[in-house]
Amino acid sequence: AVPTEKSEVLAATKTPTTLSSDSIINVARGDPALYEPYWKKQGDRCKLVTLGDELMSYFSNAVNLCWFLMPELDRAIRELHHVVGNAEVDDRFIIVGNGSTQVFHALLYALSSSGEHVPVNVVAAAPFYSSYPEETEFLQSGLYKWAGDANCFDKDGAYIEVVTSPNNPDGSIRGTVVNREGGKSIHDLAYYWPQYTPITHKANHDVMLFTFSKATGHAGSRIGWAIVLDKTIASKMVKFVEVSSIGVSKESQLRAATILGVISKDCQNPELEEENFFEYGRHLMSDRWEKLREAVMKCNGALSLPEYPQGYCRFTGKYTDSYPAFAWLKCKEGLKCEELLKDKCKIMTRGGTSFGVEETYTRVSMLSSDAEFNLMLERLSAIKGTIHGN
Ligand code: PMP
Repeated sequence: AVPTEKSEVLAATKTPTTLSSDSIINVARGDPALYEPYWKKQGDRCKLVTLGDELMSYFSNAVNLCWFLMPELDRAIRELHHVVGNAEVDDRFIIVGNGSTQVFHALLYALSSSGEHVPVNVVAAAPFYSSYPEETEFLQSGLYKWAGDANCFDKDGAYIEVVTSPNNPDGSIRGTVVNREGGKSIHDLAYYWPQYTPITHKANHDVMLFTFSKATGHAGSRIGWAIVLDKTIASKMVKFVEVSSIGVSKESQLRAATILGVISKDCQNPELEEENFFEYGRHLMSDRWEKLREAVMKCNGALSLPEYPQGYCRFTGKYTDSYPAFAWLKCKEGLKCEELLKDKCKIMTRGGTSFGVEETYTRVSMLSSDAEFNLMLERLSAIKGTIHGN
């Protein structure tokens, strides 16, 4: 049966613990359940005990520009970027937020609040992360406004271009496309980690955004951070987080510091070379992508996937492939991919229009649990027959 609105809501909020051939599979969101077995295996290494009298103050480090950032997390973030080599952190500010979602809002404020009386245009090249337009438009701010696809942007004046690389939803490697005077950019590098893509260079943009959610899978801790070169921008971001939530949970920050610390330590231990979190994640993603490509092949042209070039990864010291966190599925022209998967396979995905492109595309999370992923493959492999029988 076609899912009712209520079952869609339930499926959106809950991962079923037991799956049957009847279950709705929800891969519309990128909830990173696939990493759970890895963290389970780490047992007590990530255990954190806090007593009733600890972490009570609003303040983490009153002398730091970002006064609510715990020094432990500051150190752990910088160390991990040094170990992985994916972003320049020296002589830059780290600003923490409640998920990179809050940091994105802080950045919109910081980059648009320079006293101009017209809202700054915010653009991203389609297909873009579906939350950017929603977040930019939500409060109908007088400071900034969503102006759509960066490829079609032709207005004068100040603008902010959001660049996601590797991109959500299609996994492509990207740079700015507008490149005009008066432009500022936000580089959202949520997926610039070795399990998803070769680390080809140390990113050194003025404003870079990362999230604990996609780096390690701990989306529920709501920790994200920006690496910012300019002090005025960093100060404005701190002000934003101060006004919207007076800082960020210290319990979450300590948890993130502990987990990022465990990863850094393992990555630097030559005996654990093949077992560190990123190698584990990369093998898992590689296995999933191979299986997904096999399932799509069985569809005989009903569905297709993008191809990605190999790159030399400075972290692994090898040429590696890209294994994006989302699969960007395309179906035959004239068909609506999201609807097709929902009606024929009971697979909930997010269709192209949410990302600013045609309905022939849909986005499928590659980060679901093993059980969901395997059931999804089974149903996709069988789709060819159902389309012809239409
Ligand atoms: N940016 C991108 C590109 C994302 O895909 C996501 C999560 N889907 C976010 C930001 C938000 O992440 P967080 O959980 O840290 O708010």
